[in-house]
Amino acid sequence: MIFRILIVMCISLSLDAYANYKNSNGEELNKSFRELLQWQRNSKDPEISIIDLSDEWKNINLEEADNYFIWIGHSSFLIKKNGITILTDPIFSERASPFKNIGPKRLIPPAIYLKDIPNIDYVTISHNHYDHLDIDSLVKISNHYPDVIFLVPAGDLKLLERKKIENAYQFNWWESYETKDVTFTFTPVQHWSKRGLFDRNKSLWGGWYMKFNDYSLYHAGDTGYSNDFIDTKNRLGSPKYAFIPIGAYDPEWFMQNSHVNPEDAVKIMLDLESEYSFGMHWGTFVLTDEDTLEPPKRLKKAAINSNNVKFQSIKPGQVIKFK
Ligand SMILES: [Zn+2]
Ligand SMILES: [Zn+2]
Repeated sequence: MIFRILIVMCISLSLDAYANYKNSNGEELNKSFRELLQWQRNSKDPEISIIDLSDEWKNINLEEADNYFIWIGHSSFLIKKNGITILTDPIFSERASPFKNIGPKRLIPPAIYLKDIPNIDYVTISHNHYDHLDIDSLVKISNHYPDVIFLVPAGDLKLLERKKIENAYQFNWWESYETKDVTFTFTPVQHWSKRGLFDRNKSLWGGWYMKFNDYSLYHAGDTGYSNDFIDTKNRLGSPKYAFIPIGAYDPEWFMQNSHVNPEDAVKIMLDLESEYSFGMHWGTFVLTDEDTLEPPKRLKKAAINSNNVKFQSIKPGQVIKFK
């Protein structure tokens, strides 16, 4: 228990008063230490389950096949579309933590290890929290695939440069990286950033909108519910496929500004008017108080209650073909 409080203090306590970045509504998310202790004192032990992995990915040749995606776990997806390979928020490390031996540990291994991925063209990063920007994974990726291009939020480039990672670019909201086959645009979501004691909100957070010649994909990163998704649709159009977080929301009084529950995730889908959505940010690390299996159960109900929208949770390792 005392360790847990110490870790949470390290990742949540802020020693600097001046922040750089705010959410699109002009506000900054900032929980007091008192609130943090209140959560820790009242936190319940969630029922932990080990979710099933699929080895369906072994049935295809990842290099020759095209127009598919695979959930590796947490917010990491291997996406291949129109011959372009993208990894989102890749984390292959044992823990989502600055420390080797403490901090949230994986419940399941990555569905696919880096050595099994034949080629990567782009890596997108949503924000600098340890469960999304895993610097050890980024170093390994840049060593294995020297031509990979890293797209990161404004303020995070220095983290990669310190590790001698090349081909990295940082973005403010609505800025894009354009090629003839795909345009990546960094879009606002409601969240915050922090890795150390002095860097709260000194780097940006967001989602990645990927516009291909035929249709678009969208990865929401980490977010609470906000107007950002209506803005994104109005500015960039509806993505056909959206990857939206559905876990890490309990207790809601503490989490709801920065993490959506499954019902709010469905609201995000409705705002975006995406045709198909897939849940992420659950089942991989224990970050909050909900039971491991609660997010997909609630998602199923929420999707049925919203006119049977096509929003599902899938198994890590399962191959989903883009239509
Ligand atoms: Zn986060
Ligand atoms: Zn997260």
